[in-house]
Amino acid sequence: MTERLYLSDPYLRSFRARVVEMRDLDGKPAAILDRSAFYPEGGGQPGDRGSLGGVHVLDTQERDGAVLHLVEKPIGGEVEGALDWARRFDHMQQHHGQHLLSAAFDKVGAPTLSFHLGERTCTIDLDAPLARLDLEAAETAANDSVWRNLPVVARNFVGEERARLPLRKEPVKGDRVVLVEGVDASPCGGTHPARTGEVGCIAILKAQRWGEGKSRVEFVCGSRVVQLTHEASEALAGAAEALKCAPSDVAQAAARAMADSLSRRKAADGLLADLARLEAARLRGQGDPVVAKVERGAAFAKAVAAAIAETGGTALIASIDEGRAHLCFARPKGPGPSMGAILKEALALLGGKGGGSAEFAQGAGDGEKLDEALALAARKIGDRAPSG
Ligand SMILES: [Zn+2]
Repeated sequence: MTERLYLSDPYLRSFRARVVEMRDLDGKPAAILDRSAFYPEGGGQPGDRGSLGGVHVLDTQERDGAVLHLVEKPIGGEVEGALDWARRFDHMQQHHGQHLLSAAFDKVGAPTLSFHLGERTCTIDLDAPLARLDLEAAETAANDSVWRNLPVVARNFVGEERARLPLRKEPVKGDRVVLVEGVDASPCGGTHPARTGEVGCIAILKAQRWGEGKSRVEFVCGSRVVQLTHEASEALAGAAEALKCAPSDVAQAAARAMADSLSRRKAADGLLADLARLEAARLRGQGDPVVAKVERGAAFAKAVAAAIAETGGTALIASIDEGRAHLCFARPKGPGPSMGAILKEALALLGGKGGGSAEFAQGAGDGEKLDEALALAARKIGDRAPSG
């Protein structure tokens, strides 16, 4: 059995140990040591990383009570262990911040169901509906516990002493309790700082409904608050520059720009439709069916074809965009040749794809044989047009 050094000293970041066994975990070599400061994933806290004898430890897991260090290659003998301390300390900040936040929610009747410490943010799931949560009050209470810099006791509690503890939840295993006198007592096997102040601060990012009568609260602690603040400032500054306004005016400026763009698009759509009708009328003068190539892209070709069909004509309209041909075939409603079938034959020449109904079909293919494809389609319309 591995002596778990992190339980008595969560600040231990290097140690010497002996490899007692190499195992296999999901196809990767895993070392078992006689003693280790590496925390194996559990209780919502990820497993530690670092190195053993200079070999990378990619993850630390627990299986049947054994602490497995997943290493890049097999190791043996005496090794020097070194933790990725920045990562571990970050986990200590997040995990202890979670205890303080869960304690604050617990006091107002919102017990914590589970905790997840993610790569970027953390979440707790609470057994209370979103509407009943006062996020600001819980955040303030939790930060108050941080800033009072209270001692954190993490050790085994048994017998009388344990019986007196107002435990926030039922223990899963073992007798270890993380205690902040007057604030929280929670069974936990994780790594915690010596004083609450080391959490730095706690920021709730958002909360959402999470199943019937439950909610999920997303938060970050310590250095992650600094990191996310920088990211948010940068994003805001970028948006402000693009919108040519002060960062504090971004929301209003973005709303204005959005409304403006929407009305311009509506106007442009209207103009394009007018232009399509004019183009359709001009092309109708050339006879029926109308076979034509238009500028301004596939949407315009579609509008022209629709306008021709609306006025009783049959349209075989194409537009070319970067060597690609877009075809739009249309005819008036009622009996007549199938535009979908004819389009498929034309597109077969272009190696393209598309489809539609008997009255309207569109698709795209390689533009090289476009003239040939349009001529073929025109012939098919001629063949299938009702005689007389
Ligand atoms: Zn915990």
